[in-house]
Amino acid sequence: MITTPPHLEVHDERFRALVHPMSKLELIAEGFIWTEGPVWFGDRDCLLFSDIPNQRIMRWSETEGVSTYRASSGFNNGNTRDREGRLIGCRHGNRDVVRTEVDGRRTVLASCFEGKRLNSPNDVVVGSDGVIWFTDPTYGIISNFEGYKAAPEQPSRNVYRLGTDGVLSAVATDFAQPNGLCFSPDESRLYIAESGSSHDDTVPPVIRQFEVVGDRLKDAGVFATIDTGLPDGMRCDVQGNLWSSAADGVHCFAPDGTLLGKILVPQVVSNLCFGGRDGQRLFITATTGVYRVFVDIKGAESWTHGGSCCAAGCG
Ligand code: MG
Repeated sequence: MITTPPHLEVHDERFRALVHPMSKLELIAEGFIWTEGPVWFGDRDCLLFSDIPNQRIMRWSETEGVSTYRASSGFNNGNTRDREGRLIGCRHGNRDVVRTEVDGRRTVLASCFEGKRLNSPNDVVVGSDGVIWFTDPTYGIISNFEGYKAAPEQPSRNVYRLGTDGVLSAVATDFAQPNGLCFSPDESRLYIAESGSSHDDTVPPVIRQFEVVGDRLKDAGVFATIDTGLPDGMRCDVQGNLWSSAADGVHCFAPDGTLLGKILVPQVVSNLCFGGRDGQRLFITATTGVYRVFVDIKGAESWTHGGSCCAAGCG
């Protein structure tokens, strides 16, 4: 008889091959206010994640536990790495996208569009060509909880593309509040979370999909609907399954949008990333804690597991 551990909810038998039945849901760090932005640094064997309201970026490693990586983060939210191993982050407080250089200096990559300030960049991905894609909802300026309250100068609807030439363009302009985003493994598709139901329950909590056509996005419709809460951060694995945050845990979808199963988490999940020494741990940021689960699959963002790393990146 196949037993299913209590933190797994199997909707499709294919899910059993992705999360081993002996896997455990481990709480590896706690005591934060609102965790977000997990990113794995394989070459330093550590995880970085944001604790947004406390304005800090934290570091966790198996051997050293939790420490503060950056104490004044500017309400940093989403994080990723580029192919040079540099940390790219979204700061609500500074209302920008910032890169940490190899010597630790920080370079602001984007803070304005058409002469007006961005709202509060939320999450970010970098393609293999170095192009940066990020979302710009208003969550960081609607209160002082995770940023500085201010009137928006941009619509809350935009997703931006920052080319390697420095040109910033709005590539999707019809979201209510765009949030997490991730590429399919071959980068032909960009998935973007619609989290507008946080303030308007008429907005469906969906993950939308777009074909990447040169420097533009072509709307390919709804990929999946989140049945509990709303979608926030997400990642794809090497097979193209998409793992999304939700109010009751992590939802795993096949590349055709079929819900395969859920990892149930006792706190609202904001984001997740693959990592660990073997690349087969799913790290989950969930409200006041960070959780870890063994998964039998690796993330599509393989470059985060090794290669070069900025000297000040996470050491
Ligand atoms: Mg987010």
